[in-house]
Amino acid sequence: MLTIHNPATGVVIRRLDGDRSRSVRDKYERARTAQPAWAAVPLRKRLDAIRAFREGVVTRQAELARTLTEEVGKPVRQSRNELNGLLARLDFFLDASAKTLRDEKVFADEQQKLAERISHEPLGVIANISAWNYPYFVGSNVFVPALVAGNAVLYKPSEYATLTGLHIADLMHAAGVPQDVFVPVIGDGLTGAMLLRQPVDGVFFTGSYGTGAKIAAAAGKRMVKVQLELGGKDPIYVTDDVDVNAAAAGVADGAFYNTGQSCCSVERIYVHHSIYAPFLEAFVAEVRGYKAGDPLDESTYIGPLTRRAQIAVLKKQVADAVKKGARLLLGGKPIEGRGNWFEPTVLADVDHTMQVMREESFGPIIGIQPVADDATAIDLMNDTDYGLTAGVYGRSEARARKILAQVNAGSVYWNCCDRVSPRLPWSGVKHSGIGLTLSTYGIQAFTRPKAWHLRAT
Ligand code: NAD
Repeated sequence: MLTIHNPATGVVIRRLDGDRSRSVRDKYERARTAQPAWAAVPLRKRLDAIRAFREGVVTRQAELARTLTEEVGKPVRQSRNELNGLLARLDFFLDASAKTLRDEKVFADEQQKLAERISHEPLGVIANISAWNYPYFVGSNVFVPALVAGNAVLYKPSEYATLTGLHIADLMHAAGVPQDVFVPVIGDGLTGAMLLRQPVDGVFFTGSYGTGAKIAAAAGKRMVKVQLELGGKDPIYVTDDVDVNAAAAGVADGAFYNTGQSCCSVERIYVHHSIYAPFLEAFVAEVRGYKAGDPLDESTYIGPLTRRAQIAVLKKQVADAVKKGARLLLGGKPIEGRGNWFEPTVLADVDHTMQVMREESFGPIIGIQPVADDATAIDLMNDTDYGLTAGVYGRSEARARKILAQVNAGSVYWNCCDRVSPRLPWSGVKHSGIGLTLSTYGIQAFTRPKAWHLRAT
């Protein structure tokens, strides 16, 4: 039995039965049987189903946003932003898939009567084990291109976003994707582990490094494709020539949007020493202006933490930083009452001996450290187990590009942050994962290139 709580109030929203090993196996077998017929459906028709899914999202947007807010705690404006972002991703896939999946003729020689071609074959049945923080984004990055490419998808939403996962399945089925081709698998990590025991042809996981490492180990012996989109400890460096107020506002939004629960949230800030004091002042003023409260209220910016267990992590990070000499400029403790609340927290004068600069925080808390120059900032940005995104704020593009070229991360930003584009590959290095989603590479990721050597007689 799965119990779903509203993280803002602690109230139970729903109880529902999760899958058990028997039902997971049945779902896998049905998907295995259904997949070849789905792959034989012309690509144009598979894309029509995704177009109909998009229409369903538009029609039911208000209800979908409300469910997401109630079960995850995401402020409702941000839930709507996520749904609008989903529409943009769907538009990209609808536009780019046919070109990307077309057979390629790579060589032809009339004298030898030889032709060489590449076709893009579906992997087969894939497992999509997903996270709760952006269920529409991280889910659709996988299941949309996977379905378009002709795969069947066993989709396990996070146990913290189950109702959203069930909405997604309803929308897919109403759009014409067969029930056995897009199959929700409901439950927690144990259900995820049961899913991995099925002989699937690919494992696409979004979640934490800790779980990702277990999944890599479980899938390792199978020799099937494994992609892991994991966490981050993403840095921003603010150089000395910025408009301090604008930079503080932009970086604060990158750190606190979605209550700091984004894989690419800004988690570390380095500020050139010459503007450190005014930056801190502007940053704290900005964060003080964020309204925390009922996530269904249109003016709320900071919601609850989705997972109650994260409160203890944040408390520990604050205590550790303060003990080692950090200055607590704002917040620092849970907000008492029902639900999972933590004050927006700003720590200054931090350094890399502190957990807040080394371990993923995944909450409304940030550390800010002064740096002497660009070279020190580069060293500190790279001093991490992770490598999802990194950014520089400053006037000079040349300076920013020189710095970012030396930073080891999947995505880099100049004067922006906490940003994902469907046109660009989304990937991490080191503990941030392996493989990628989005862009044309993230469509091909759900296919196997098959080599054709064709000689006429
Ligand atoms: P999580 O690792 O706790 O859970 C992710 C999924 O794995 C859930 O569906 C869970 O039920 C399942 N799971 C747990 N144990 C499992 C096991 N042993 N076998 C199979 N499945 C198992 O992560 P979360 O709390 O849902 O998500 C937050 C994390 O995800 C953060 O670290 C965040 O940075 C990361 N994230 C990364 C990206 C990205 O694109 N790189 C995007 C969003 C979130």
